[in-house]
Amino acid sequence: MSASPLETLQRVFGYDSFRGDQKAIIEHVVHGGDALVLMPTGGGKSLCYQIPALVRSGTGVVVSPLIALMQDQVDALIELGVKAAYLNSSQDWRTARDVEHAFLAGDLDLLYVAPERLLTDRCMDMLTQGRVSLFAIDEAHCVSQWGHDFRPEYLGLSVLHERWPDVPRLALTATATAATRREIAQRLELNEAPHFVASFDRPNIQYRIVEKNEVRKQLLSFIRAEHEGDCGIVYCLSRARVEETATFLCDNGIPALPYHAGLSAAVRAQNQARFLREEGVVMVATIAFGMGVNKPDVRFVAHIDLPKSVEGYYQETGRAGRDGLPATAWLAYGLQDVVQQRRMINESAGDEAFRRRLGSQLDAMLGLCETVGCRRERLLAYFDQQIEPCGNCDTCLEPPQAWDGTVAAQKILSAVYRLWRERGQRFGAGHLIDILRGKSTDRITQYGHETLSVFGIGADLSEQAWRGVLRQLLAQSLLAVDHEGYGTLALTDGSRAVLKGEHKLMFRREPEKKARGSSRAAGARAKAPVLDLPAEAQRRFEGLRAWRSEVARGHGVPAYVIFHDATLREIAMQCPQTLDDLGRVSGVGARKLEAYGEEILRCLGLC
Ligand code: ADP
Ligand code: ZN
Repeated sequence: MSASPLETLQRVFGYDSFRGDQKAIIEHVVHGGDALVLMPTGGGKSLCYQIPALVRSGTGVVVSPLIALMQDQVDALIELGVKAAYLNSSQDWRTARDVEHAFLAGDLDLLYVAPERLLTDRCMDMLTQGRVSLFAIDEAHCVSQWGHDFRPEYLGLSVLHERWPDVPRLALTATATAATRREIAQRLELNEAPHFVASFDRPNIQYRIVEKNEVRKQLLSFIRAEHEGDCGIVYCLSRARVEETATFLCDNGIPALPYHAGLSAAVRAQNQARFLREEGVVMVATIAFGMGVNKPDVRFVAHIDLPKSVEGYYQETGRAGRDGLPATAWLAYGLQDVVQQRRMINESAGDEAFRRRLGSQLDAMLGLCETVGCRRERLLAYFDQQIEPCGNCDTCLEPPQAWDGTVAAQKILSAVYRLWRERGQRFGAGHLIDILRGKSTDRITQYGHETLSVFGIGADLSEQAWRGVLRQLLAQSLLAVDHEGYGTLALTDGSRAVLKGEHKLMFRREPEKKARGSSRAAGARAKAPVLDLPAEAQRRFEGLRAWRSEVARGHGVPAYVIFHDATLREIAMQCPQTLDDLGRVSGVGARKLEAYGEEILRCLGLC
């Protein structure tokens, strides 16, 4: 063994101390133990295998599902002076052969391999002939067949245990419900391995969920008010929606790019590279995008459609603010989302158990959207972790009011009951609300609905308020989307209890459409710390950023591979005068100090 883990952290990575469980995990692996590591995105998983790989003799083999991102990871390590390489199908055979030779000669600290490549005979033979210090299985939840990122190749990885029983294996993931955790341990044969479960809290991310009305306009004003010029990700449910939203943002002066499985591999790779390398690009994407993207300065993640599960949502929003600086997770959600998702579940292929599982995932997501309590408390409870109300989510910042909606619910449920007798006709939410509010539309006249006893009994509430009531009834399964597939509404067992008055209902009152004012107040809080550099330091920061862009372009790597924003901010604040002082800034390791120290001091002198 060469240096200790702490010396390696300080010298190579330039950080002072370990975070959370890192120290315990690293020591465990250095001594040859297997481990399952569960940390939120941005929690610091990579050091958990990179440092043991540097400390133990031999090469650490990292299984990573994302060929397109291996290069950036390896480039970042090389910048740190680590001997790293990758093997994947994007290389020509000569390059691959050189990497194989380097591995066999013991010249590599870290080798990244895609799972399908690893499982080939050629690769297995090569690994047998060389010396492997550990196996790190990144994005280990890809082994979960129920999960949203399932990769069949991951199932083959149990072979590592059989072929190399003495080499420590480390499975890492940011997805951590108890069920997923069990499944990972079982499929990767990590039965004996301890689970290191970090806190899943990401305090720098501000969680906000807004009622959806004109979602593209809402998105645009959110970006303009709070994240102009910032890099962000916008998640949508369908390809068509990705395309139209990206076009809409571009038309309105926001540099946006689309990403979904319907685009060619070349276009996807190109858009991803631009997102990583250029400043201020907004990626509009389906969930196909984002795994393994470790860009540290994503300042917001927006969802304009309701995600299907809390697990997926938390992983997607976790891609914001990896650098620890303030970031926003913004979700717009409305009645139509609930109707659409309930219908999709009803119509999905698969057996009853499968549908039930989808249904309960959706229910948990809806519970999060409708809560009047702290969002973060609710999110973390989903991962069995308890916290106090956080003070950095919309419900903490502007507590919503609850109101007794029992009577309103009874009115709407009676109306559904009356219409249900005319099944076969398709009456959607809009028609129902028209009846309650006593509006005489053509359709109402056509079906004689003005004669119903419920006609006009709900004139006291606005249309928006009624949509809120409907949405919350659907969210709580006190109303169902009709199984016959017309998208009409039907009563459930739960509805009857409400109709009989056995069940008091408290609803969330949406802040009336003051739209921008309130979000700006919250936004100012979100944004302030990022901008919060004194004028002098801000000037130095801009100077350093310009210098960094040039170096990054010269090396053909993303800017954050040279230095993170957080490190540049620290340098700008402290304005070190000597190399020794500069070397003490967090994120400035020995190799970077040697390579860039003089230039940085010169740059600071000019600012
Ligand atoms: P994950 O893989 O868990 O999403 P990363 O390994 O990319 O997270 O780490 C997130 C960020 O935190 C990175 O920028 C990393 O350099 C930084 N980081 C990790 N551990 C430490 C530490 N002990 N001290 C300071 N920064 C750290
Ligand atoms: Zn909160």
